[in-house]
Amino acid sequence: MSGARSVMELSLFGPLFARERARGADKPTGRIVDIHVHFDEKNPGFLDDLLKLADQMNLTACLLTPFSHRRVVAEAAKQHPRQIVPFGFVDLDAPDVVRQVEELHSLGFRGLGELEFVKKPYNDPSYFPVYELANRYGWLVLFHTGIVVRKNFNEPEDVASGRMRPIHLEEIARRFPKITLVGAHCGNPEYEWAAEIARWNPNVFFDLSGSTLTKMHGRLAEFQRIFWWSAIDWSVMTPDNDPSAFIKLVFGSDSDLAGVESVANQYRAMFDACDVPERTRKMIMGGTLAKLLGPPE
Ligand SMILES: [Zn+2]
Repeated sequence: MSGARSVMELSLFGPLFARERARGADKPTGRIVDIHVHFDEKNPGFLDDLLKLADQMNLTACLLTPFSHRRVVAEAAKQHPRQIVPFGFVDLDAPDVVRQVEELHSLGFRGLGELEFVKKPYNDPSYFPVYELANRYGWLVLFHTGIVVRKNFNEPEDVASGRMRPIHLEEIARRFPKITLVGAHCGNPEYEWAAEIARWNPNVFFDLSGSTLTKMHGRLAEFQRIFWWSAIDWSVMTPDNDPSAFIKLVFGSDSDLAGVESVANQYRAMFDACDVPERTRKMIMGGTLAKLLGPPE
């Protein structure tokens, strides 16, 4: 999602986030892996700022990198492999997207995302050559799912949230089983479809970034109705064989760097409201992604 929207939300809901930060301040902080950190092209000191935050928060960032910045991020990731995992932010409709993806792989990139603003639904066969490569590389791919911002209120634009519904991830997950798909924003507002697809597909996870945790602030326990199958054996694979339905979530901030901690505290408030077991919390905040990505401890 665009940084502009994140900043807007943070300023609108600043007081609310501050309260949650105060409440969560005494909690011990384990390893955090954030699937959803957008490279900020407007901040020339971004990489330094990110490294500082990574040290403060014990954080590894999957850095969603515009193609034009691929080299500087590839280099930074080589020097700071515990802090930065490079992900390529490509346009699925670009005529040379396959070549871009091959180059990203040769530079040591570990995945793609955030894929968004597509001209066709995510499961359109014209996108399969990209998914075939991601499958061959065993990559993680972060897809925007659900409602998307309108960037310009007065100009026509070829954008539709319906092309980015979480249900489209199911076909990709089944056709390309070596891709790990992460749906950003848990399909907002199609949480139930998102959760059900994650339940049956071991290679599908979702993050709760965006406006969802703000929207659900006063009713966070409702997530128990969406992630409802804890401790019921469906004979599907989960990380560490964790029986909690919440194991299908991973941490993603989709925030500017100043807001990452606030989003982490929003996740923690949801964990408390839903009695998410301690070991599952650790997996959501970093364990699952650390395992999938294998970054240095
Ligand atoms: Zn998004």
